[in-house]
Amino acid sequence: LLPLIYAVTPTYSRAVQKAELTRLANTFRQVPRFHWVVVEDASARTELVAHFLARCGVPYTHLHALTPRRFKRSGMPRATEQRNAALGWLRTHRATREPGVVFFADDDNTYSLELFEEMRSTKGVSVWPVGLVGGRRYERPIVENGKVVGWYTGWRADRPFAIDMAGFAVNLQVILANPRALFKRRGAKPGMQESDFLKQITKVEDLEPKAKNCTQVLVWHTRTEKVNLGNEPKRHQDSLMIEV
Ligand code: UDP
Ligand code: MN
Repeated sequence: LLPLIYAVTPTYSRAVQKAELTRLANTFRQVPRFHWVVVEDASARTELVAHFLARCGVPYTHLHALTPRRFKRSGMPRATEQRNAALGWLRTHRATREPGVVFFADDDNTYSLELFEEMRSTKGVSVWPVGLVGGRRYERPIVENGKVVGWYTGWRADRPFAIDMAGFAVNLQVILANPRALFKRRGAKPGMQESDFLKQITKVEDLEPKAKNCTQVLVWHTRTEKVNLGNEPKRHQDSLMIEV
């Protein structure tokens, strides 16, 4: 049996949310042995997301975890609480010996289908390049003789793991064997979430390079433009209430 891929997606309410989730579902629906862990940044599960998931055709678990308001400022890492809620769910609902791979899939990125076949063989922690990130066309782990020896990056090259959230996957057994490994709020800076987490569960020399020794871009850190709602009516609203 193929290891099950658990994709953890933090998501929050905004004009483009359903469009983003639709795009993800259209990709994830095509991946065999896949389980989508969607964690809403909200004080409860919303109807919009609940209805969407029920109809999307992807096996899923729907969780929520509210980001405290004091952590919602710019310059603060995003989705810490949501990713930790997913780790908590995996630790209470998944058993040792179940073959699985955990991947953090933000709701606005772009994922190729090949990416999932690459990550499926992850024994410990695997890594690969990410496109359109760090102020460059891509960032990537530098591989020599099958081992990661450094990072091609243009941003904070001092990071112990100079890699985006979309650039790694973790075997489920590693998550279960390190029950205290979590994303950190205390002292956390944006861009250090990945390093802070990865150093709790692995070492650079143990990373497994994927995507032809980290020479292919199979995932892109795309970002969605803020929608212009400048012409939304203040009076004379539409006679229908339509979910967007
Ligand atoms: N996110 C969230 N709450 C927020 C902001 C972001 O749950 O207040 C989620 C968002 O939906 C995405 C992830 O956190 O899945 C990363 O956020 P974003 O894509 O805005 O970050 P960036 O692209 O800057 O890394
Ligand atoms: Mn993003």
